[in-house]
Amino acid sequence: MKSESRSVKFLVIGSGAAGLNFAITASQYGEVLLITKKKISDSATEMAQGGVAAVTSKKDSVGKHIEDTLKAGHYTNKKSAVKYIIEKGPAVIRHLASIGVNFDKTLHREGGHSERRISHVGDHTGDAIEKALIKQVRKIKNIHILEHTRATKLTKKNGKITGCHAICEQKNCTLRIAAKATILATGGIGRKFQATTNPEVSTGDGIDMSKAVGAKLMDMKYIQFHPTALSAPGKPTFLLTEALRGEGARIIDENGARFIDELAPRDIVCSAINKKRNSGHKVFLDFTHKDKAKTKATFSHVYSTLKKYGFDLTKEPIPIEPAAHYLCGGIATDICGRTSLPGLYAYGETARTGLHGANRLASNSLLEAIATTMDMPKELRTL
Ligand SMILES: Cc1cc2nc3c(=O)[nH]c(=O)nc-3n(C[C@H](O)[C@H](O)[C@H](O)COP(=O)(O)OP(=O)(O)OC[C@H]3O[C@@H](n4cnc5c(N)ncnc54)[C@H](O)[C@@H]3O)c2cc1C
Repeated sequence: MKSESRSVKFLVIGSGAAGLNFAITASQYGEVLLITKKKISDSATEMAQGGVAAVTSKKDSVGKHIEDTLKAGHYTNKKSAVKYIIEKGPAVIRHLASIGVNFDKTLHREGGHSERRISHVGDHTGDAIEKALIKQVRKIKNIHILEHTRATKLTKKNGKITGCHAICEQKNCTLRIAAKATILATGGIGRKFQATTNPEVSTGDGIDMSKAVGAKLMDMKYIQFHPTALSAPGKPTFLLTEALRGEGARIIDENGARFIDELAPRDIVCSAINKKRNSGHKVFLDFTHKDKAKTKATFSHVYSTLKKYGFDLTKEPIPIEPAAHYLCGGIATDICGRTSLPGLYAYGETARTGLHGANRLASNSLLEAIATTMDMPKELRTL
């Protein structure tokens, strides 16, 4: 395998919401090289169904969204990060709309939210966001994209991160990339678990690489499980969006009995389901009492995917189990993405800003990925 070297101002590793949006912002200040280990769209972002939590209705308030976030996180969140990110919510929605994300007019409600505040595009919001960001990134001349290129190791000189080593399948070569700023936007760690809602790319590479060079990690014990993933032998652990519960889905056992408030935060719903399952019961998500035509229209992605796996959401309760879903902790950063090491920045799910505390409030992660990458740390603007 041959070896190549490159030198760039901004090296962005990862092409989900955080990496793509950072690249767009950074491109105003210099050349960006964005590497991603599979296809550009392969990410947790494109799988997100529910949407983006943000205050956009008159009935709602930033104060309520902050309180819901703190409550879901068991008040272990970093308050300054919560305030900064939640206040940016309306601007995040405007930004996404401005690059072509065509949000529905209605707002959804999800567990732990005291108001309807989930901006969404049907039940395939992440796909719409990922596509809009990719379209934007491809238009910008000083963003260079290398797909099928996996970062394997961060490089460090005199205590500063100076870039990375990577393997580029596209060119069948190893790459040594020198960068003035290295940005990790490598997503979560779900694939380290047997049952997960996460895509293949979510293997925690950013966490492993940054740990190897001595970056500080925080809250790694806070891993969120999603209560309602499909539980069927031989079928993927497909996520049944929380918006279903927001619209009245019931969690029941095999006798049709409810046993938990479906709109409680995820950790509480998960532990109730685990308790039920551990005492020999089966657990289902039931949406059969809802209008069938509306279900097919509003939850078209979930409906058609379940059909493919042999289930009809409008006719039968769907067997569910909790599955590893989201890393609330990660690489410790300040609100601008600075890690404990100079030259290294982290955004999105791989970063721990402190927004989520012990348990993430539903749909706060796309919000965080965009809110923290809409601007740049001061020192990066003048690199
Ligand atoms: C099924 C599902 C539904 C969800 N629904 C919602 C929702 O409705 N609302 C919400 O707010 N959140 C939701 N989430 C969580 C949310 O989607 C993610 O937290 C968010 O998209 C993470 O964005 P990101 O940019 O940090 O990472 P990702 O979107 O996961 O992107 C990570 C990128 O890094 C790349 N990468 C990884 N390792 C390397 C490497 N070594 N070298 C090069 N590239 C690498 C990957 O290929 C990928 O491009 C959902 C998650 C899942 C899995």
